[in-house]
Amino acid sequence: MADTSSPTLRPGARVTVMGLGSFGGGVGAARFLAGRGAQVTVTDLRDDEALADSCRQLDGVPGINWRLGEHREEDFRDVDLVVVNPAVASESPWVEIARQSGALLTTEIGLFWQLNPGRTIAVTGSNGKSTTAAMIHAILDAGGEGRTWLGGNIGGSLLEQLDAMASTDWVVLELSSFQLEHLDRQKAAAEIAVVTNLTPNHLDRHHTLDAYRHAKQAILRWQSPGQAAVLSSDDPDVAGWTTAGCRLGFGRDTGCGAGVFLGEFADADQAAIVRVGEVSREIPLGGWVRIPGRHNLHNAAAATAAALLAGAGIADVRRGLQQFAGLPHRLQLVAECRGRRFYNDSLATTPESVAVALAAFDDPVVLLAGGYDKQIPLAGLADSIGEHAKAIALMGETAGMLDRHLADQSNQIPRSVCGSLEQAFAWAIAQSSPGDNILLSPGCASYDWFTSFRERGKAFEQLARGWRQAA
Ligand code: ADP
Repeated sequence: MADTSSPTLRPGARVTVMGLGSFGGGVGAARFLAGRGAQVTVTDLRDDEALADSCRQLDGVPGINWRLGEHREEDFRDVDLVVVNPAVASESPWVEIARQSGALLTTEIGLFWQLNPGRTIAVTGSNGKSTTAAMIHAILDAGGEGRTWLGGNIGGSLLEQLDAMASTDWVVLELSSFQLEHLDRQKAAAEIAVVTNLTPNHLDRHHTLDAYRHAKQAILRWQSPGQAAVLSSDDPDVAGWTTAGCRLGFGRDTGCGAGVFLGEFADADQAAIVRVGEVSREIPLGGWVRIPGRHNLHNAAAATAAALLAGAGIADVRRGLQQFAGLPHRLQLVAECRGRRFYNDSLATTPESVAVALAAFDDPVVLLAGGYDKQIPLAGLADSIGEHAKAIALMGETAGMLDRHLADQSNQIPRSVCGSLEQAFAWAIAQSSPGDNILLSPGCASYDWFTSFRERGKAFEQLARGWRQAA
């Protein structure tokens, strides 16, 4: 891997950015390296039309060569550094060519990790990473001491902010299993690591649950005794993970141990018991969290533990959580009309996130679900749908499979396999009555019908707003 003094970061270094993507990492890496005088080749199997947004962000940046719609061997053979998109499989033959030719390999987050002058809080898990990371950021920001940065898998790139960062700043990074797989080789260890939960995910890429878990555990693997980890006490898998650092828990109260635990009785002001360092008290956590769903109380408990470890006070926790209005595409109320509420939960790409979304509502839910097939088991998803939804519009590659699972349920709810989001929306409306929630919570990725969960969520939002206007 490159380091600050490495020739790869000197003017004239030959760098290939492999996989421009549309989440900002590729753009950030290309712009940063070109700004340091590198000769940057940006290559992606998708063409300029598919990558129009990202390409536009690099308009006018000097020193960039384009190779879109294909990869070529020379771009991997004759270079000093390859910045690999974390979605690229480690067995990629192109990466192997670069490795064999002696090029250094890194990722956008790897490069940032190496150069980051601040103190890092890293957050991973199968669900709730972005929300938890954003909550930690909101709490530390509310404290107002020094600057706090938020980046990683949540989107964008912090590389170009490096010059503005100080050694006392906290940098909160959401990390995916793909990013962690690469960071593992760098022996990256965060000062504070947070793991929200672990359930089977991305098995199309990791192949086995063991391999997926191994990738996620990189967040703890290189920690030392001066560092700390906040780990779910409820998740039977994560609860058994080990770290050389100090360990805190969150979730159900175990009656002992450090961490932030939810009290036994659920009420509007759901109390939490805080035992972190010098702080030992009860707080009305549920009264401070504005976004719906019990899962968000778990996210808030994890965020509180991490933020307190980073030096925040309880007043900062209260202010930060009260100001946190949630992230787009996560159980986001996008329209309300004729007694129906429309929720965009497009980012729910796992069965567990659909289950928690359904559990967040007391009123009936007409669900739109299904999408790209990540080859994860969907029988559990059908169980939660059969149990909690009033009706379901099935979409995308997994529609047929979900339909078959739903046919096996004892509780048969109205369902329809739909050929487009528009059809699914119209069918859902027809099934709904005043007082219902219409929820897009697909439980699957979006790549079959859309380029991203954002595009899918925005399309749903437009349909909902359009229906409201037509009303
Ligand atoms: P991630 O970054 O891990 O994808 P997000 O915070 O963006 O997680 O939330 C994505 C989806 O997962 C949302 O739709 C939300 O409803 C669901 N979710 C959030 N937190 C949790 C949790 N702690 N457990 C299960 N599902 C969750």
